[in-house]
Amino acid sequence: MHESCGVFGVYAPDEDVARLTFFALFALQHRGQESAGIATTDGKGLQVHAKMGLVSQAFNEDSLSKLSGNIAIGHNRYSTRGSSRVANVQPIVVGEGSDSLAVAHNGNIINAEHLYEELSEQGYVFHTSTDTEAIANLILSSTEKGWVNRIRYAMHRLQGAYSLTLLTKDTLFGVRDPLGVRPLCLGAINGNWVIASESCALDHIGATFVREIEPGEIVAINGDGINSYREEVGRRALCIFEYIYFARPDSVINGKLLYPVRQAMGAGLSDEHPVDADLVMGVPDSATAAGIGYSHQSGIPLGEGLLKNRYVGRTFIEPDQRIRDLGVKLKFNPLPQMLDGKRLVVVDDSIVRGTTTPQVVKMLRRAGVSEVHMRICAPPIRYPCFFGVDMATRGELIAARKTISEVRDFIGADSLGYLSIDGLIKAIGLPKDSFCMACFTGDYPVPVQLEMDKLAMETAPVTQQVPFGVKQR
Ligand code: SF4
Repeated sequence: MHESCGVFGVYAPDEDVARLTFFALFALQHRGQESAGIATTDGKGLQVHAKMGLVSQAFNEDSLSKLSGNIAIGHNRYSTRGSSRVANVQPIVVGEGSDSLAVAHNGNIINAEHLYEELSEQGYVFHTSTDTEAIANLILSSTEKGWVNRIRYAMHRLQGAYSLTLLTKDTLFGVRDPLGVRPLCLGAINGNWVIASESCALDHIGATFVREIEPGEIVAINGDGINSYREEVGRRALCIFEYIYFARPDSVINGKLLYPVRQAMGAGLSDEHPVDADLVMGVPDSATAAGIGYSHQSGIPLGEGLLKNRYVGRTFIEPDQRIRDLGVKLKFNPLPQMLDGKRLVVVDDSIVRGTTTPQVVKMLRRAGVSEVHMRICAPPIRYPCFFGVDMATRGELIAARKTISEVRDFIGADSLGYLSIDGLIKAIGLPKDSFCMACFTGDYPVPVQLEMDKLAMETAPVTQQVPFGVKQR
């Protein structure tokens, strides 16, 4: 399961804004590893450098030194809409002269196809297959006066998830959709301002966290200072997977540091699904904190049973079939001396398609484990995501097709326990109605289009791909 992107922006006339953005993108690398890009402005025009690959592969001293200016935005991409190719790298730049705009986007626009058609009929030419270009051209197409009103116009037309950083020739904007599906925060650095998907990016560049950018808010930063433009919003729907898996454990979202939240998920799993065992381990790295929480709460000793190769999947060298067949062996290596004869509790963040977990269980058994008890921080995922998470079609989701005991048998574990929705909410410590949990419940926070899709989903056989009108990747 992949998140869609990381975004960043900085307004700092006295600083090397391209370099600050480079290091912030480095801290946000976990949100997207397909491409990286930075756009800057020196007040006269926009410059962009964006390439396929990791941040460290996309930039060097030479490319950074050419990105002059006092404002910058940056982007790490994982493609959810639009294929993974160089034309789709971000930031995307549209318009000309003083009407140019650079856009970096985290999220997924549900009505993008309708907007492509509408804007194409108006003469807008699309150079990419991303929904980000639809956002950018929608803003340009507005006849309202001033960027804030043009952005607001677009916000009224867009359906879905978008946390954006935008750059004009003299202004940095941070924009968050009215549901607040993806996080976005504001920070300060040496009297100047930064905007980032996650607070961990602020820590790494020496900026301090100021506040979340609120759902439906536009923040504008330029020579006149910082201004906020808000509208009344209805339901909030922050993606609950930011707490379970996507965001880094050292990030703070809605006042909650994620590391202890994940420990509390592990403790909740111990309360809800106790078992007699000799050792607890969290699957590294995303479930490490939850494993610690389970161990503390249950009193079962904590151990490390799998070592992770942290660099796997972060290369553009395609493995051949023989290497691909190694599956999780590419990613994990077990420690048989730690595991031999042990009854093991394995805490993991989620089970999506059920392709990886059986391989992990098999690997642990081969390493000598006598019992494997899987404990999962996310409740069963039964519905697909429309908000920028590359999950699966409903037919591919194992929990949509099988009962919990069937999933247990399929993955080859001795027992399987999922954290309940109430247990998850208790661990996070924020109101239930502030989250999107649609992949557990089917209750999507976007009313019209998705309600129709939901109906189709309820009546369609779950083994087939349901025609949602939104192509899942
Ligand atoms: S459907 Fe699930 S993964 Fe998608 S935004 Fe909602 S909670 Fe997050």
